[in-house]
Amino acid sequence: MRQVEGTDFNARNRRLKRMPVLWLAGFFTVLVCFSITSITLWQLRQTRNHELDIADTTAANLSRSMAQQADDTFDQADIPVAGIVERLNYDGFASAKSPRMHDYLRATAASVEQIQGLFIYDKDGNWDATSLNHMPANANNADREYFQFHKSIDSNLPHIGQAIRSRTTGDWIIPVSRRVNDAQGQFAGVVLATIELAYFERFFDRFDIGKRGVITLTTADGTVLARRPTLENLGSVSIADGELFRKYLKEHYEGTATVRSIIDHELRLYGYKRLDRYPLVVLAGLSEQEVLEEWRQYAWRSLAIIICVVIANLLFGVLLFQQIRFGLNAESQLRIASHSLEKLALQDGLTGLANRRHFQEILGLEFVAGQANLHPLSLIMIDIDYFKSYNDNYGHVAGDKCIVAVAECIRSNLNRTGDLAVRYGGEEMAVFLPYSDAHGAFALAEKIRLSVLARAIEHKGNPDGVVSISLGVYGCAAHQCPTMEAFVERADIALYTAKHEGRNRTVMG
Ligand code: GH3
Ligand code: MG
Ligand code: MG
Repeated sequence: MRQVEGTDFNARNRRLKRMPVLWLAGFFTVLVCFSITSITLWQLRQTRNHELDIADTTAANLSRSMAQQADDTFDQADIPVAGIVERLNYDGFASAKSPRMHDYLRATAASVEQIQGLFIYDKDGNWDATSLNHMPANANNADREYFQFHKSIDSNLPHIGQAIRSRTTGDWIIPVSRRVNDAQGQFAGVVLATIELAYFERFFDRFDIGKRGVITLTTADGTVLARRPTLENLGSVSIADGELFRKYLKEHYEGTATVRSIIDHELRLYGYKRLDRYPLVVLAGLSEQEVLEEWRQYAWRSLAIIICVVIANLLFGVLLFQQIRFGLNAESQLRIASHSLEKLALQDGLTGLANRRHFQEILGLEFVAGQANLHPLSLIMIDIDYFKSYNDNYGHVAGDKCIVAVAECIRSNLNRTGDLAVRYGGEEMAVFLPYSDAHGAFALAEKIRLSVLARAIEHKGNPDGVVSISLGVYGCAAHQCPTMEAFVERADIALYTAKHEGRNRTVMG
């Protein structure tokens, strides 16, 4: 059956074309969210690295400056020690006890800020001379580490011992000492300068390393000599097991590293350096958490803003998505509505068959003025018998139902695309068969007639007792068809003949 096609296909096509807009809106929204987030995260990462780089440089500079200062401090303490050793060698060890030596020690200790005291011990560890005003009776330092060191190792190099508490003042001190030999090259005693730990602490305090930063001076084997902040049990603390000593200081003379402290477990960016002239190491560490504190606040603020922007963008995207979808739905509903209207304009409201207007249009297409037909055409005109009487007997509503039943019989017998069933007017219907010849049309007409009879709709006014129809058929071969009007008229005449010959029959025109 000929359909109102094409419009459906166009609508689907248009909808398909519009679909990408929906996906584009979604994709664009997600892309914007993704871009904003990744740019911000990248920027945060960059600023974090920048902050850490600055801290790294600061720690490296600090450690260099501390190392230089420590070198100078020990130099300034060692120079007088070396001078005294030289004097003792020249004047003999006995000169250690002379008042002149005492005056010399006092004057030297007073002139060098970091020296707390100068001492000369004989080969048994007994005090021979000191820069202090008071010399304790029977004092002996033979048990001290530096004394044992010099006694056992014949070296003319200075020795820096671990931090100890002074027996005379109780202060924390670092011993700088040298061995003295007698004329035969035998161990004759030790010259010692003590450096106040407080001197280093005062120096360390001059630098801004934050609340959780640290500056440490250690011996080459990791024993802590001085530290800011200071430690309770200073003399016995070793950081030899820390990562800096185990790894970095083994491979490099100086450098920077981010490691966790084994003393307070703080993660710090350390600058480390071995001293040039002494077996000592300086570490300057800045707490990573402190270094990144400002950055962290900035990062939280940025993230909060980004979350708001992303949420707003997503909401906007959802709104846009809904708007587009709403627009598309409205459009497709409008299309459906207009399609229904189109259908209504071409359909008969009661039977659903094509209306006469549609019939005229289709027929007009086949009978274009001056053009020969390329295929056979047939027309069946149908009229219900004694219908006036049916209306009279059963009422108008039943009459309408009867027309619908006949229309269904017609429709159910059509199976070729292009065949068009029409309600021609009143209880008159027609079937236009654009590809059938007269014989085919006649056979179809008979099928329709019989199927109406088979319905056995009671009709008192019909001599047969049931509803019947009369049919007039006209068919023409291609090239031989008359005009459109004559074509319809010939079928109409055949119908008239069928009526005249007694109804309930098909007549070929
Ligand atoms: P015939 O066998 O010669 O066709 O006799 P008939 O009574 O059917 O005569 P005709 O075809 O001239 O009758 C047409 C009647 O059909 C007129 C009218 O009462 C009835 N009719 C026309 N249109 C409708 C309609 O839409 N509904 C109903 N119920 N009746 C209609
Ligand atoms: Mg009629
Ligand atoms: Mg009739």
